Amino acid sequence: MPQTNSYPIRCPKCGSQQDELLYDSIDVGKEPDLRRQLLENKLNAVTCNECGHQFRIDKNLLYHDSRAGWMIYMNPTSVEKYDEAESEFRQVLDDLRSVMPSDQKMPEVDLVLSRIELVERIFVREAGFHPKVIEYVKYLIYTQNLDQFLPEDKALLLNGQECNEEQLCFVVQDVNTHKLETLMHYKREAYDSLLELLQQDGELSLANQLFPGPYVSARAYLMQEDI
Ligand SMILES: [Zn+2]
Repeated sequence: MPQTNSYPIRCPKCGSQQDELLYDSIDVGKEPDLRRQLLENKLNAVTCNECGHQFRIDKNLLYHDSRAGWMIYMNPTSVEKYDEAESEFRQVLDDLRSVMPSDQKMPEVDLVLSRIELVERIFVREAGFHPKVIEYVKYLIYTQNLDQFLPEDKALLLNGQECNEEQLCFVVQDVNTHKLETLMHYKREAYDSLLELLQQDGELSLANQLFPGPYVSARAYLMQEDI
């Protein structure tokens, strides 16, 4: 069952207020249409009763794929408020554990801080990639291309459709204009070796040392390093 709640919403255009049912969590394993709505920007979309203005509410959302067995929790916030987001995430995990049957294994839950990250992480998970290894690859791409772009200005997003057995494909996105720019490729073979290292070395692997979690982001890591 998807979970919705009523929220007071103010129209950003005319300022009038109305109550709106918004999703707090969705299970796309049971209701695949909610995945489509999310990807098409139609989930938690609101039309103002007064002026007809349409807008989207980016609020906390638990995305659950019960067939695949993973979850992603989105808490739209800035990296500056990360500590709050992390403690709220821990609370969500505790709540999930308390309702899980004791014989059932807790699914993996990722934390993301924006809708763009949520959509990308859905593709990463659906393609069967390991989020930490993908972010580690991004870290390598950033550090090898600092003369071309900086993590402050550009986000790297996995382009799932262009990935194949030979290579992974990332697209460089301008953070301010949201424009998609260059494509960057990375050898699939190299990804596989990094994944093997992560599994072999566990906590000692570089990917785990850079990203102890729960928020795993090469861009955020590199920006923090600058401060
Ligand atoms: Zn309005």
